[in-house]
Amino acid sequence: LRRNPGETEFHQAVHEVLETLGPVLVKYPEFAEHKIIQRICEPERQIIFRVPWQDDRGNTHINRAFRVEFNSALGPYKGGMRFHPSVYLGIIKFLGFEQIFKNGLTGLPIGGGKGGSDFDPKGRSDAEIMRFCQSMMTELYRHIGEYTDVPAGDIGVGQREIGYLFGQYKRITNRYESGVFTGKGLDWGGSRARREATGYGAVFFTQEMLQVRGDSLEGKTCVVSGSGNVAIYAIDKIHALGGKVIACSDSNGVIVDKNGLDLDLIKQIKEVERRRISAYAEERRDATYLADGSIWTVPCEVALPCATQNELNGKDAATLVSQGCIAVAEGANMPTTPEGVKVFQEAGIAFGPGKAANAGGVATSALEMQQNASRDSWTFEYTEERLREIMMNIHRDCHQTAEEFGAPGNYVVGANTAGFLRVANAMVALGLV
Ligand code: NDP
Repeated sequence: LRRNPGETEFHQAVHEVLETLGPVLVKYPEFAEHKIIQRICEPERQIIFRVPWQDDRGNTHINRAFRVEFNSALGPYKGGMRFHPSVYLGIIKFLGFEQIFKNGLTGLPIGGGKGGSDFDPKGRSDAEIMRFCQSMMTELYRHIGEYTDVPAGDIGVGQREIGYLFGQYKRITNRYESGVFTGKGLDWGGSRARREATGYGAVFFTQEMLQVRGDSLEGKTCVVSGSGNVAIYAIDKIHALGGKVIACSDSNGVIVDKNGLDLDLIKQIKEVERRRISAYAEERRDATYLADGSIWTVPCEVALPCATQNELNGKDAATLVSQGCIAVAEGANMPTTPEGVKVFQEAGIAFGPGKAANAGGVATSALEMQQNASRDSWTFEYTEERLREIMMNIHRDCHQTAEEFGAPGNYVVGANTAGFLRVANAMVALGLV
């Protein structure tokens, strides 16, 4: 705590991992001998820099940007960039720390990193977004590269922003280095199914958790928080697998549509028109908009938090359980508070932590890197099938590891332990670096 003062979310993420690792450290004393815990909690490198830019009226703004290169034992640093006014070092470090274990779980050769800025893209014009991205890349380009650090999107950073960032990287370096970024557009080195991957992956993971219990998503009533990239494609796959999503949200309010959400309308509002989710209720008379409402009060059998950290607390968890929720999978990173996780675990419902449940995004980013390296482009079906296999493997690893370490059915223990083992073994092998 003294070493990283005020970094609340980072403390939370570290605490959540360390409290589950006792049995691993007992079984493998060499990890203590090599000081793996102390080393894994300290980023290999962190970069903090100024991003000056001008708005459309000619006013100058100064934002702060971060890239935390946390751990490269398994491969180049890999993790998204977040643009949100709440961003500070503590958020980027929590995300980077989680990313190490998540990337380890995918079984693919990627290390952990994360970045972002306190820039608020809401209400900004296309030209302003472009100027901000170009200014950011004017510093960031010297720290990243196909074999060094490969950023992607996150909250507030989608294909448009990645295009502007990648364009400026290409211009400064004079290299068409496709593998330096993932989440690119299909015409300029992107992978099919990357946009869908995090949401689809979270639903595949949910389906696996239900299957272990002899159940499935077929006919289930679901709620999905958020209405961004992860939420939209989680809704898409739940509907494809026979479930019905009746509510989603944004930071202003909640939409409830008992008939099942109309995904085409949501995509039109969010992806094309870039409007608030309240617009849904203006188009669908049957739907209700709850301004400032909590999505977790909507009764459901399956809940997927897909918006942001700490969006689901102990009280929300208790409400979900009391209203019949049987499964929760985290599409977002650390959306459930520690009190919320405890409620789910004590109630014995299936709970899939973000490290495992939302790993499909970064896994498909690694598949994008594979396609870039071989100058190839796979079909949607093939890429989705690879994603599905990866999610099934992650689920199996988490499930088996939890059993092996005396916590059957506890995916938090399974994910932390399996991810840690992969990274820690590589760190020992690579020596004191
Ligand atoms: P988007 O920016 O596309 O969407 C974010 C959604 O969450 C929006 O609906 C947004 O509403 C809502 N939201 C964001 N911040 C808050 C807040 N403070 N309070 C309430 N709602 C909020 O981001 P993504 O869908 O890409 O990311 C969502 C989550 O998934 C994040 O936790 C991210 O780290 C995680 N994730 C994303 C991956 C990816 O591939 N994109 C991969 C793995 C994890 P509003 O518009 O009102 O801000």
